[in-house]
Amino acid sequence: EQDVDEYRKSLAIRVSGFDVPRPIKTFEDSGFSLQLMNAIKKQGYEKPTSIQCQAFPIVLSGRDAIGIAKTGSGKTAAFVLPMIVHIMDQPELAKEEGPIGVICAPTRELAHQIYLEAKKFAKSHGIRVSAVYGGMSKLEQFKELKAGCEIVVATPGRLIDMIKMKALTMLRATYLVLDEADRMFDLGFEPQIRSIVGQIRPDRQTLLFSATMPRKVEKLAREILTDPVRITVGEVG
Ligand code: ADP
Ligand code: MG
Repeated sequence: EQDVDEYRKSLAIRVSGFDVPRPIKTFEDSGFSLQLMNAIKKQGYEKPTSIQCQAFPIVLSGRDAIGIAKTGSGKTAAFVLPMIVHIMDQPELAKEEGPIGVICAPTRELAHQIYLEAKKFAKSHGIRVSAVYGGMSKLEQFKELKAGCEIVVATPGRLIDMIKMKALTMLRATYLVLDEADRMFDLGFEPQIRSIVGQIRPDRQTLLFSATMPRKVEKLAREILTDPVRITVGEVG
């Protein structure tokens, strides 16, 4: 136990929550499939970042989590890689079902970056990723979603539009990520986020990432996550 504390300290990580699994040291420790390990190697990722060391065992065990860490700490892969594992464990989608994984981000630029990162790992698994944000033709987006996908990366407003147009449903969604939650609140997306969350089955796995935890974000987290583990990296929050 003291070893674990020391190791967390060396990663500049603090955790709270009950029964928090110990952080891993290498990608191999995560138990990722050979296929996923190959995709990781192809990206040139040699070892997990601090947040990944702690997030992988938590998220892979199915727990909800809050990740507080600054930009550039590798948060995207921290939720994308376990998402790939989660999706591979699910029954295949029938036509017009899906997505299984839903990622909300504050801006189209951020959504696009996540989309690119997700595609790197999804492709070799036959997992389809769609990006949904303003500035793209709604008709094109509608058609793409209708064709089906396992992962949707979206800004909240456009995702609601697409749900209203019945381009997709949340019936199969079981893995929800709210990325940069503080910025989504700053941009006034709280009602849209609550609407999206309200359409996803309550026994979903929910992950929330944020650079800071203002009271409003804290309140949302309390309402929509179940027994989350909180991971804080470095001097943030
Ligand atoms: P954050 O969301 O915390 O700001 P990102 O997920 O965008 O950070 O990651 C920052 C950069 O680090 C990206 O270019 C990403 O590809 C890279 N990266 C992520 N994980 C690793 C890793 N384990 N090893 C090396 N590079 C990584
Ligand atoms: Mg990020």
